[in-house]
Amino acid sequence: MSYLVDTTTLATLRSDKPWINDPLHFKSTIISPSAIVKMLSHCQSGVEKGIRQGGKPIEVMGLVQGRPDTENPGRIIITDVFPLPIEGFETRVIADDQNVVNYMIALGDSLENSRVEKFCGWYHSHPFDVSAISNCFFSSTDLSTQLSWQRSEDPHGNPWVGFVIDPQRTVHQGSPEIKAFRAFPPEYERPIKDMVPDGTVITTEKSRLENWGSCWSRYYSLDVEYFMSDLAQSVIKSVTENLFWMKNFTENEQGANNKALFEAINENVGKVDTSGKGGNDPENNNASETKKDKRENPNSEHFNNALKPVDDNNSDQTKKNITEIIKQMMFGSLRCDCNEKHD
Ligand SMILES: [Zn+2]
Repeated sequence: MSYLVDTTTLATLRSDKPWINDPLHFKSTIISPSAIVKMLSHCQSGVEKGIRQGGKPIEVMGLVQGRPDTENPGRIIITDVFPLPIEGFETRVIADDQNVVNYMIALGDSLENSRVEKFCGWYHSHPFDVSAISNCFFSSTDLSTQLSWQRSEDPHGNPWVGFVIDPQRTVHQGSPEIKAFRAFPPEYERPIKDMVPDGTVITTEKSRLENWGSCWSRYYSLDVEYFMSDLAQSVIKSVTENLFWMKNFTENEQGANNKALFEAINENVGKVDTSGKGGNDPENNNASETKKDKRENPNSEHFNNALKPVDDNNSDQTKKNITEIIKQMMFGSLRCDCNEKHD
């Protein structure tokens, strides 16, 4: 595979849009070595940060940059990823001001420099406990997020893909646990009944729910190809070892102090609302609210409202849209109901 691209062929492909009339057009994605390392490190850092603060691993999210493959129809190439300064959508968001500013500058530069590659997908982590079943699946919120992106981006020559990473399992098995998904349009029905996202058939509903969540019939998985150099593997290994060390440390006497600090930080962050849309929603800041309550109140329309098409020819508008999405993600009420299949 080559990372060089014939821009004319790519422009033709983007205007032909063969994915529009075939819900299963895309079969695979290939991720560049630097992109997979950035993505995995980001997800591991969420686990590490959560444990350091004496709480649960933190979910993280980012955007991926790439393009449909002109040489291999049905494949999406991912060349880079951009972690978003958003953490732990299951509880409350912590945004470090300086990091956010730096991020926006970097993002602006990147949009300026890249005419060939675009933001063409998103990733987020499911840092839940390790069990016999992978945590890489789409929750109902994930599915509607993905579908909104596909509806706004696919028709503009920019097919959208969603990645889910299970960082705990990645550590456990010593290799990346990552899956890529695309959503089916609502009117599409799979010809084979009981076929789950990876193309296998599971005949019991209980097992389908355990493996793929309540929306198991509404999305499918793409093969994920990546290459990790020796160096990349050692980076991940060192992140991993650090994580185990932290876990042992915080489970002892430091745990209680860290938890108090974490809660104090959250108290303050709960008061920040720069978007004027829901960051201060008392419903969202109720510490005694159970996870299930939160799931039933996904409040994701703020996020969906931000899903505007990225206009090829107008980089100011593109920047504004991306900025808006990030603002909604950071200060709006994006919720992940990703733990649903385990309840
Ligand atoms: Zn999720």
